[in-house]
Amino acid sequence: MIPHPAREQIDLWASASRDCTLGIIIEGQDHARYLLSAHTGHGPCCQPYQDALSAVSVAMG
Ligand SMILES: [Zn+2]
Repeated sequence: MIPHPAREQIDLWASASRDCTLGIIIEGQDHARYLLSAHTGHGPCCQPYQDALSAVSVAMG
């Protein structure tokens, strides 16, 4: 069974990462995956996307 982030958690992540010019602390892989899908296509200037990408890369070694 794959744990799924709660609706409330996703709302928190969404409001915390609304500004694409601000970096964000990645809380875990679910958070990183959420950010990658929510900010996909925003380009290299999207800071939450870049932060999530590096968090995923670190986790994958
Ligand atoms: Zn973005």
